[in-house]
Amino acid sequence: MIWRKDVECLPVEKLQALQLERLRALVARAIEHVPFYTQAFADAGLGANDISSLDDLGKLPFTRKTDLRDNYPFGLLAVPLSEVKELHASSGTTGNPTVVAYTKNDIALWSDVMARALACAGATPGDVVQNAYGYGLFTGGLGIHYGALELGATVVPMSSGGTKRQIKLMHDFGAAVLTCTPSYALFMAEEAADMGVDTRRSPLRIGVHGAEPWTDGMRREIEQAWDIKAMDIYGLSEIIGPGVAQECQAQDGLHVFADVFLPEVIDPATGAPLPDGEQGELVITTLTKEALPFIRYRTGDIVSITHEPCAACGRTSPRMSKVRGRTDDMLIIRGINVFPSQIESVLLEVEGAKPHYQLIVDRKGSLDQLEVQVEIDETVFSDEIKVLENLERRIRREIESVLGLTVSVRLVEPRTIERSMGKAKRVVDKRQLER
Ligand SMILES: [Zn+2]
Repeated sequence: MIWRKDVECLPVEKLQALQLERLRALVARAIEHVPFYTQAFADAGLGANDISSLDDLGKLPFTRKTDLRDNYPFGLLAVPLSEVKELHASSGTTGNPTVVAYTKNDIALWSDVMARALACAGATPGDVVQNAYGYGLFTGGLGIHYGALELGATVVPMSSGGTKRQIKLMHDFGAAVLTCTPSYALFMAEEAADMGVDTRRSPLRIGVHGAEPWTDGMRREIEQAWDIKAMDIYGLSEIIGPGVAQECQAQDGLHVFADVFLPEVIDPATGAPLPDGEQGELVITTLTKEALPFIRYRTGDIVSITHEPCAACGRTSPRMSKVRGRTDDMLIIRGINVFPSQIESVLLEVEGAKPHYQLIVDRKGSLDQLEVQVEIDETVFSDEIKVLENLERRIRREIESVLGLTVSVRLVEPRTIERSMGKAKRVVDKRQLER
């Protein structure tokens, strides 16, 4: 089902004409109402009239997360506070939180793009949607909630946690759609098995999972555990929350709702735009947002993008790959770039290994060491020591061939790695603790 066929299936030239028109209006509005942009455009010697094609995008200044923090709390607003109807904020563990703001129209936009996303994932009006994203200042819960209402679904505002109750209500209410982080979907499946619930015999059809990077291997685990189709959703609070991009049934890239979020991929080191298919940092311009419009916001997420229309569903919007990692959780170990997702892909291919793992980075003398702790099956763990040694060696070799880096592997008992209700903690970097 395509929720907004008028914009989701626009011929590419018409989509680009609409993007350009909206980009020019956005720049004019930002320069007029946001001193930060007045200054940034003056520094670049540019005005709204200097944008005559989408190719000019590369000339425009970037916006970074630090700009939000530096202008805390309301310095980047483009409207008076009296027009702001909802405020959200990040936890701000490292200084000022980042604040995001919505006008009434912004909330309508959010509801619309989230309804598009749920429909794109395969949800239909009348479905019961169990929403296990956290409600509150985190944008995940309310974003999905607004979208489910807009779609005409029945939303169960569970929030995350209370897993046993969650599983009971999901069963009793006959949920067809589960929305939560991928790691929580797997955790719920484990708990359900403990409770003696047959997860494969529920009316659940679709999982909509995001808020942390995950691999296709993890997708297969979730799909098997619940007998559902697990779909990737992408969004971030600074841009709007969930609902920036969504996989369709083809599961071949996430459709960006590009009439409102203009995507680019850049080289994170140089800032230069990259062509289709090349992996780099995702940058988004919010074409129609009122309260907190952003020009070229650097998301920190590593993706590639294609502008090929999707043969499977007919949407013409550009598609982004799953997020491969983040510029800020990319580990540099002995000069080699390592993303936790690379290790996850390896683990999911090895029989006996579970997708529960942690990477411990330490420095011995001047040399960085990476230890991969991985949970293994109950049955394997009780096997003789030789079997365990063989498995350990196999995992180590496979990881080393993917990363081109020597690592150590430690097999740990099932359920010994800490579970998370939200984003899983994959990396413990002891090098940073010592600094
Ligand atoms: Zn598609």
